[in-house]
Amino acid sequence: MGFFKTVSSYIPRFVAFIILLAVAFGAVPAKDFVVTLDAGHGGHDYGAIGEKSNEKTITLAVVKQLGRLIESNLPDVKVVYTRDKDVFIPLKDRAAIANNAKSDLFISIHINSVDKRNRNRRSIEGCQVYTLGLHKTAENLAVAKRENAVMELEPDHTEKYAGFDPNSLESDIVFELSQYKRLDQSIEFADAVHGELVDVSGRVPKGVRQAGFWVLWATSMPSVLVELDFICNPKSEKYMASAKGQKEMVEALYNAFCAYFNTYGSQITGKQLPLATAIGKDKHSRNRAEEPVEDVSAEKPEAVDREHPGNGESVKGINEIPAGSDNPVYYVQILASSVALPAKSAELKALKDVEYYRDGGFYKYAIGPEKNLNDAIKRLSRVRKSFPEAFIIKMVNGKRVDFIKP
Ligand SMILES: [Zn+2]
Repeated sequence: MGFFKTVSSYIPRFVAFIILLAVAFGAVPAKDFVVTLDAGHGGHDYGAIGEKSNEKTITLAVVKQLGRLIESNLPDVKVVYTRDKDVFIPLKDRAAIANNAKSDLFISIHINSVDKRNRNRRSIEGCQVYTLGLHKTAENLAVAKRENAVMELEPDHTEKYAGFDPNSLESDIVFELSQYKRLDQSIEFADAVHGELVDVSGRVPKGVRQAGFWVLWATSMPSVLVELDFICNPKSEKYMASAKGQKEMVEALYNAFCAYFNTYGSQITGKQLPLATAIGKDKHSRNRAEEPVEDVSAEKPEAVDREHPGNGESVKGINEIPAGSDNPVYYVQILASSVALPAKSAELKALKDVEYYRDGGFYKYAIGPEKNLNDAIKRLSRVRKSFPEAFIIKMVNGKRVDFIKP
């Protein structure tokens, strides 16, 4: 076991080395590595507002400094900005800019805040780094909802964002297989950003997390969304608005970028960076091992036969809801995916009695059956602890029927 583990851990490095050789000998044409930097919000959209500053101003300052640092030190990297001034850019255009530039990495910079009713508003602090995923906690969902809500400031948003309602993330975030493939690299970069923000800019670690952010869903390259810190906390606001704070946060992001470039960028450009590119290390000596970091190393589902497997069959160890009888049964629906999830998938959180049904190209996962509605309601309240957006569905003859949700 140990031997194979050791060998397999060298495979990515070996592949990178072969690609480097191929580029060096002209077998593969070298090209620039393209990174798109996305300063959240802008124009009439201020984002989160603090006592003296606001999200759109700080994110732009950080993104411009980060872009300059990359441009002046890394000649094989092309920097693309979704905005380099104070203008409103619809979410859809941000994703399109990154996609059209054929970016290799997308970094969206934001600043967090909690509701005015939250008692910890002035004391909550720390950085969070998100990749696309099924939100696992109500807290993550709240952050995604706030960032997605920008689309409501746009005219005709319901048409432009068909299939993605910012207020109902339960409504089936569609995961394509290609998005799962990019997830590993996104998580790797998110982890580096999170670590550097703690080490170099002294932010409190609040974890690498997953949630349904529209910009991450719509970009077709590894992508992360960074919440630098909480602007509702006056101490954090002061830090993020200061020249020193911005310099440190930029250095943190830059270091993470250099580490990522040396693994994946070198395969594209054929160039490695000099070893000592990291800057500003050990300014802050917080022990980040003490802090819990959310486990996002979810098992990725593999490609599946798109054909309907037929009632009562099993896909990846999970049974399809059987045709049953005319007597209605109730299930608690927890999530939907365009690819089949394996039974041991982390997304299913080891829940028992999970079955699925096919609907409009989705695999919809539900827990049950319960013959009576009251039992389903009891089950719902338990399931909502891990799936806050779960709801009850009614099945007759193995098909979902209209039903007023309790
Ligand atoms: Zn934001």
